[in-house]
Amino acid sequence: MTSADRTGQQGSTAGGGVSERQARQVAEAARETQWHKPSFGKELFLGRFRLDLVHPHPRGDAASVERGEEFLARLRRFCETEMDGPTIERDGLIPDQVVKGLRELGAFGMKIDTAYGGVGLSQVYYNKALMLAASVHPSVGAMLSAHQSIGVPQPLKMFGTEEQKRTWLPRCARNLTAFLLTEPDVGSDPARMQATATPTDDGYLLDGVKLWTTNGVVADLVVVMAQVPKTADRRGGITAFVVEADSPGITVENRNAFMGLRGIENGVTRFHQVKVPAANRIGKEGQGLKIALSTLNIGRLSLPAVSTGSAKWCAKIAREWSGQRVQWGRPVGKHEAVSGKLAFITATAYGLEAMLELSSEMADEERNDIRIEAALAKLYASEMGWLVADELVQIRGGRGFETADSLAARGERGVPAEQVLRDQRINRIFEGSTEIMHLLIAREAVDTHLSVAGDIIDPEADFNRKARAVIGAGKFYARWLPTLVAGKGQLATSFAEFGPLAKHLRYVERASRRLARSTFYGMSRWQAKLETRQRFLGRIVDIGAELFAMSASCVRAQRDPEGGTAVELADAFCQQARVRSEELFTRLWTNSDDSDRTLARRVLEDRYTWVEEGVLDPSIEGPWIAEQAIGPSTKENVHRPV
Ligand SMILES: Cc1cc2nc3c(=O)[nH]c(=O)nc-3n(C[C@H](O)[C@H](O)[C@H](O)COP(=O)(O)OP(=O)(O)OC[C@H]3O[C@@H](n4cnc5c(N)ncnc54)[C@H](O)[C@@H]3O)c2cc1C
Repeated sequence: MTSADRTGQQGSTAGGGVSERQARQVAEAARETQWHKPSFGKELFLGRFRLDLVHPHPRGDAASVERGEEFLARLRRFCETEMDGPTIERDGLIPDQVVKGLRELGAFGMKIDTAYGGVGLSQVYYNKALMLAASVHPSVGAMLSAHQSIGVPQPLKMFGTEEQKRTWLPRCARNLTAFLLTEPDVGSDPARMQATATPTDDGYLLDGVKLWTTNGVVADLVVVMAQVPKTADRRGGITAFVVEADSPGITVENRNAFMGLRGIENGVTRFHQVKVPAANRIGKEGQGLKIALSTLNIGRLSLPAVSTGSAKWCAKIAREWSGQRVQWGRPVGKHEAVSGKLAFITATAYGLEAMLELSSEMADEERNDIRIEAALAKLYASEMGWLVADELVQIRGGRGFETADSLAARGERGVPAEQVLRDQRINRIFEGSTEIMHLLIAREAVDTHLSVAGDIIDPEADFNRKARAVIGAGKFYARWLPTLVAGKGQLATSFAEFGPLAKHLRYVERASRRLARSTFYGMSRWQAKLETRQRFLGRIVDIGAELFAMSASCVRAQRDPEGGTAVELADAFCQQARVRSEELFTRLWTNSDDSDRTLARRVLEDRYTWVEEGVLDPSIEGPWIAEQAIGPSTKENVHRPV
């Protein structure tokens, strides 16, 4: 039974054919339900602080460290001598010679095994490389990660046959690829997918329009998600295909422009009767979404890498500017309002890197299931990275709002603070928006409750099934609830080996039990409706993220104390994270959720449109809506492989 069944949400089919219930069913069917390995994150949400799963901090083996360091040194040299961030920003393009240079360096095959012509980096070093390249210009990070974290190589690596790997991975090691899921009507909700793959004698015919395809303009190969129609003898469903980007019938119509990431080659790709051999299908028919989501389980770590890199740069600029800019007789960093921001930026840069390193080392170690940790890292790093960038702009004052070129033209140092804010913003939207990440992680956090409560909360279950479920749940909760009452976090001597950080780990242990109790209260209070309490669940997830970040910070400081300064930073980060967690705990039960829900419903009923009076709406009406229809393109093909 799916959670959608349990909630009994019939839902409307607003705007075209797919109800909320169907959307949930599609998402649920694509969800990986099995847990074969332990999960620190899952245990944390259940009130069990399993420090043993993350401590001692895992470390890569000597060979992967050596390979990684050698590659990083070459990449750094290339970035320093051949790449110029301001030029990319100014021209809105990554120059062809940079793309070619990165190819020669092996940067397109960082995550591809050496057996298939790649560099074979570990996740840890792949992330370090992304962080480095993105620090020159985030568009370069986006290009590399759209190709390797979600593009053709990763799904092939995880789900391709040996023959498929031998055919395509060596090409992927030298050429860019793209991942094509989103459509004009499909963002967070793949159930609405309209692109089709119609079976033929020897393969499929692809038709449809794919939107916002990063690298789509320059890709050699693309991975496309399309619906195979269901028939009496075909399971059908969303299916993944590797497609040659220059296949007849493909047109790349537009190079989209954005508030940030101005160098990415992102387009609208139209498929009209594109022939795809059966050998190009990855996995089985109907497995496409599962493949996409599984790919993201680890692929998601590239965004925290880029966000962390950005936070580290913000820490540098914030330190330099706060110390150097004097107003009212003191460096601005010595005025308390600014010093608080400086402390936040620096501690957060440390905390984000700790979370990233721990998740990446765990991904390489393969001892734990890290899907929750990677999702938490994506969610947390994209949100905190944004706050950090915003605070940097504030510390820089008017110069924070001025472009780097304009600053330089006046003879000042061209610090691109406003650019970092623009570039960071998308991280909260793509590869799983914050709202969707909340739902995805919350689904795992409440999974045990849903499995246990099962028929109790299923509106379609009859009395006998409910009665049996009550007995089963009673037994589970009778065993589980008492474990949430007391724990190591209450003993002043626990985690003593962590010295000054022990108190924070004790807090995490206590907070983890409190978090599980809160989830249980929510479950008891709202039962089947809990899944619709998105803001409550979002706070539960955000507390989990803070606790994971605190754990990672302490464990990292214990591994690399950096002469005690890492311990100081971990301590500062944990103090800030505790304040945020406590606020979130309070807001679980003290909030305006109910009145906001009423207000939002009324807003959608146009009750307050008078609030919008007195201003003009500068939006441009484009003809594009009419052009979304599937059919042959009449536009020029802007596809330009490098
Ligand atoms: C620069 C850029 C690059 C991109 N690159 C790619 C790419 O390479 N390949 C690709 O396939 N796609 C790509 N995308 C698409 C991106 O992944 C989507 O924008 C993202 O999935 C969100 O979809 P949407 O924009 O349609 O928002 P929508 O799904 O329409 O959502 C709108 C808002 O509603 C929220 N929301 C939606 N559903 C729910 C729900 N059930 N509960 C609560 N809140 C909800 C969302 O979080 C969001 O805030 C890219 C987008 C951009 C801007």
